[in-house]
Amino acid sequence: MTPVTTFADKTVALFGLGGSGLATALALQAGGAGVVACDDDPACMANAAGKGIETGDLRTADWSRFSALILSPGVPLTHPEPHWSATLAQDAGVEVIGDIELFCRERAKIAPDAPFVAITGTNGKSTTTALIAHILREAGKDVQMGGNIGTAILSLEPPGPNRIHVIECSSFQIDLAPSLKPTIGVLLNISPDHLDRHGTMANYAAIKERLVAGAKVALVGVDDDLTHEIGRRLTERGGEIFPVSGCRELDWGYFVLDQKVLAKGHNEALVDAEVLAHLGRISSLRGAHNAQNAAFACAAAWHCWVEPEVIQSAITSFPGLPHRMEEVGRRGRVIFVNDSKATNADSTDKALASFDRMFWILGGKAKEGGIAPLTPYFPKVEKAYLIGQAAEDFAATLDGTVPFVRCGALDRAVAEAAADAARSDAPEPVVLLSPACASYDQYPNFEVRGDHFRDLVRALPGVEMNQRA
Ligand code: ADP
Repeated sequence: MTPVTTFADKTVALFGLGGSGLATALALQAGGAGVVACDDDPACMANAAGKGIETGDLRTADWSRFSALILSPGVPLTHPEPHWSATLAQDAGVEVIGDIELFCRERAKIAPDAPFVAITGTNGKSTTTALIAHILREAGKDVQMGGNIGTAILSLEPPGPNRIHVIECSSFQIDLAPSLKPTIGVLLNISPDHLDRHGTMANYAAIKERLVAGAKVALVGVDDDLTHEIGRRLTERGGEIFPVSGCRELDWGYFVLDQKVLAKGHNEALVDAEVLAHLGRISSLRGAHNAQNAAFACAAAWHCWVEPEVIQSAITSFPGLPHRMEEVGRRGRVIFVNDSKATNADSTDKALASFDRMFWILGGKAKEGGIAPLTPYFPKVEKAYLIGQAAEDFAATLDGTVPFVRCGALDRAVAEAAADAARSDAPEPVVLLSPACASYDQYPNFEVRGDHFRDLVRALPGVEMNQRA
């Protein structure tokens, strides 16, 4: 845990008692602050009280006692409208901040030079964060990884000169962290997302920009217009701004060319560029989107003084993240891929782009737009296996172009897809769960759906499971 001492002997209000809220309350208390914690859900309040956290009704509290409101990132700060606790705080002139801000202030106080890598972007945050942490650990460094991925930031060990914090930051977390100044800031990409919570695209992009604007070294994507523009603006302002591309050669910076991640200096010839890693045949980093993630991760590791040989060997041993194009097992030539995290067509697009011949399991609770945007990939799909509520909608889109079968549930879909794939003459047929749908009609969440897929694959006779699955 990182005790938060910057509010010692003061009292703060805290709203939102999910995982990170609880961790934050405990870290504040451990650092000597008084906390009055609140949540709309009485069960969360009772759970917090059971952990020794003081709870209270912030609606009726005297806000003049509070030095800050610590808000959970899941609670609206501005859109669609400010949460009532944020309004009460603002009316009382009390600052509203989040757990990343508490970490930043603590770092500034106890170890201002402690290395801190912060990662944001619309897509690929978790993969890139996990890959950076993996490379740094393989390089023998003391790494603390968390934030929006896994462990809440204040549950991690405190910052120190020889310890690197690798922190995934959502836009909500950045919005609540006005003094975010990482040693290395990573901005992967920006596309429309969470506009209900950020109002406009311009506002959403401006929040993401703050993470790199405050960084000592900024690694900024150039593969979409918004990040490209941010990089241009920051470069004009001056500072260490490095462009990164997952798909094209740049005059200088970090980019992927012929499956190699290159670091090229200003005015350096391409042949002299440093090869940080070869990405070919690395099953945990398939696809153009992962090339982008890998380019950033290699660049971040390079700026942490990791040698290319170490980067290469770490990239090769990267296990990938569960439920994201995760190769769970193999039977003969057939591979089984769990992409349960793909809850919309945009994510499934990445999987369909990454394989050649697919037996595609899809369906669940449909999102707006359905699978029509995926039609360019239909020629690569040998057959589709429909599950869940979306089956009829998807059947209508596939009809006439892709053979399909309505399977209802995942068990039948896996059995039929596995049998069909075994008869395929493709060099490497893929049984792919990439549902393009939320899971809530049949599962509590995408993780449970992906775990079920993995269990069904494991139960097939003759399957060799990936050791990590
Ligand atoms: P995040 O943490 O930002 O949600 P993840 O690393 O968990 O991202 O990946 C989630 C999904 O987003 C992946 O399954 C893939 O479909 C897609 N994705 C991953 N990386 C990228 C990227 N660099 N660009 C676009 N889409 C990506």
